Amino acid sequence: MSVEPPPPESAPLPSAARNAKGEWRPPYPIRYAPLFIWPLRLAAVGRWLVSYPGFLWPINVLLLAISAVSWFLTQPDIARCTQFSADWIGQIYVRNLVLMWLYYGGYYLHLYILKREGTQGKYDANWPARNSRLFLFRDQVYDNIFWTCGVAGLIWTAYEVGTLWLYANHHIPGLEWSRHPGYFVLWLFFIPFWREFHFYWVHRLIHWKPLYRSVHYLHHKNINPNPWSGMAMHPVETMLYLSVVLIHWIVPSHPFHFLFNLQHAALGPAGGHHGFEGPILNGKLPTGSYFHYLHHRYFECNYGESTIPFDRWFGTFRDGLPEGEGAKLTEEQRD
Ligand SMILES: [Zn+2]
Ligand SMILES: [Zn+2]
Repeated sequence: MSVEPPPPESAPLPSAARNAKGEWRPPYPIRYAPLFIWPLRLAAVGRWLVSYPGFLWPINVLLLAISAVSWFLTQPDIARCTQFSADWIGQIYVRNLVLMWLYYGGYYLHLYILKREGTQGKYDANWPARNSRLFLFRDQVYDNIFWTCGVAGLIWTAYEVGTLWLYANHHIPGLEWSRHPGYFVLWLFFIPFWREFHFYWVHRLIHWKPLYRSVHYLHHKNINPNPWSGMAMHPVETMLYLSVVLIHWIVPSHPFHFLFNLQHAALGPAGGHHGFEGPILNGKLPTGSYFHYLHHRYFECNYGESTIPFDRWFGTFRDGLPEGEGAKLTEEQRD
């Protein structure tokens, strides 16, 4: 997710007014995290790790906190998961639906129903499409809720149920906090990077024309995305996207690592698709991804996210500035 504000040391570039299509862009370029720069800028990396916003705050800590609350208050005891039964499967399914409605629905309520932020910082001035034949039920939001909550919610739960059953029956390697605390914590740090790596390559795969036409086209109906567009995907795409958790079938990990990875993947897209440039909530919550908005708008750019610079390495990065203006930026500003 791209949540970085402009660097305080650089003067903001002049903001373009909304163009004829009603589009707005932030007055500063999209910037990558200060990783993968040689020579290493350790102070900048350190600041990025702990600053607000940065790697930890607020999104990764928030998602980790949601996973911790889920784990301690709603997770079925692993001993119950040795056999498939409706009680613990139902418990997980209901928990996941509640999380989805709170997280996706919370953004939607604030930004689209109560319209608390107005259209200031909304990339596209238009609200979601109504009475459009492009979408199920002729309504973009109902369509998106159907795919996100109805379909992706089931696939999310299926991954979770299958993997907990594997853990409970010791068919996949486990990890104990008491025996490997350092490795346990490192795993948690690694998960957001693994997510980004996996997302980039799955995303490139489904932009291969045959898969785009049969699978990924569905997500790309949302040229003007809203929170519920986040997991509005063809079931094959959702399965590929959530296969990020299959790493736990191979690499020793605790079920909590798996839960964090899965919830990070299942809830994260709400923030990446709501279509607003943060910070929101009176300037307190940095959120939103102009990086991914540009992918929805222009299709052939910004396949990844803004930590690992895959798009820059492969020549598909678009920083959001008008043509030519980006070229004026120094390397320092770009990084
Ligand atoms: Zn998207
Ligand atoms: Zn795409």
